[in-house]
Amino acid sequence: MSVPLLDLKRQNAPLRAELLQAFERVLDSGQYILGKEVEQFERAGAALAGARHGVGVASGTDAILLALMALGIGPGDEVICPSFTFFATAGCIARTGARPVFADSCAVCFNLDPQSFEHLISPRTKAVIPVHLFGQAAHMREIMQVARAHQLAVIEDAAQALGAAYQGEPVGSIGTFGTFSFFPSKNLGGFGDSGLLTANDDGLAEKARLLRSHGAKPKYFHKMVGGNFRMDPIHAALLSVKLPHLGEYSRGRNAHACKYNTRLAEVAGAAVNNGFSRPEMEERAAFLLLPAPHDGNTHIWNQYTVRVVPGRGWVRPETPRDALRSFLQERGIGSEIYYPRPMHQQECFAYAGPHAALPVCERLARESVSLPVFPELTAEEQDATIAALADFLAQNR
Ligand SMILES: *Cc1c(COP(=O)(O)O)cnc(C)c1O
Repeated sequence: MSVPLLDLKRQNAPLRAELLQAFERVLDSGQYILGKEVEQFERAGAALAGARHGVGVASGTDAILLALMALGIGPGDEVICPSFTFFATAGCIARTGARPVFADSCAVCFNLDPQSFEHLISPRTKAVIPVHLFGQAAHMREIMQVARAHQLAVIEDAAQALGAAYQGEPVGSIGTFGTFSFFPSKNLGGFGDSGLLTANDDGLAEKARLLRSHGAKPKYFHKMVGGNFRMDPIHAALLSVKLPHLGEYSRGRNAHACKYNTRLAEVAGAAVNNGFSRPEMEERAAFLLLPAPHDGNTHIWNQYTVRVVPGRGWVRPETPRDALRSFLQERGIGSEIYYPRPMHQQECFAYAGPHAALPVCERLARESVSLPVFPELTAEEQDATIAALADFLAQNR
């Protein structure tokens, strides 16, 4: 049986009539830039994130860039972010002319390690960008404490976490800004690129709104240099059809993640990740660490990411993670590596170094692999995936 990592058609097919209606509504409106559709979506998106303001933008990347621009960050400044993240987090820092400074990650939740970033703060540091990776909130209490003590702005990169909560608080409402993406693979997946910037501060939200349209107020009179970062009404209209289903999608993902964790925990050679080495890991050739949400967090499982740890008996030159991937591929089961190379080891950021050694994130880059967890995954498909993982572990005891 072949199992896709993600199948968007299954999710969108039942909404076909409503999506076509939304498309026709925009077509007939004659309004193809900003306007009512975008404003309605911004209000709904901001409400979901628990924030006062929502600014619709053209991508999750533009949301991050716009947040940095609204904070006035540029050459001479430094911004801290985790090295283990999607490129956009760090790329946007560099695009403003500021220096990206990379911090290590938590071995349990894959997110920015609050302990590993305070010593990276310098007089030039203006902001920190925690990323709510794979759908789970970063350690926001500790991060906010450090940020407040050093007067840093906090941009929550919540591209993978719309609807997630940190100890009951929705992500995107905790820091200075929140940034979201509707790239098709995110929990609220759109029909092309778009994103949302959230903020509680009226002034900063207004500044971001102006910068989104070349910084003009009124039109053709420019106080600031902005860009064209606008969300299209066609995306807003189509996403508005899917938004009411987001809770149901995330519940589906959660059910799959719980089933993986329950079933795989019974397999010899697998256990819930406690972040530390366990003696039984050493004794086996390959050991599977299962993702565990921190208590009190609402995890929305944009990815179900396991770690494949090599033990004493592992002798092949490739990593056990890469061996597992090939094994799954032979069985027709989709998987992906988020992310194979941390940011501090990227060629394009060599200029910003020398970077601190980041042992945890280097390990995560070697050991992580994400498995199918999309809401419409069938029981048979998930059973086939679990069976494949169990077989791999049985062969590598
Ligand atoms: C997807 C993603 C982005 C960028 O979003 P786009 O809409 O693709 O530009 C930024 N950060 C993280 C962590 C992401 O996963």
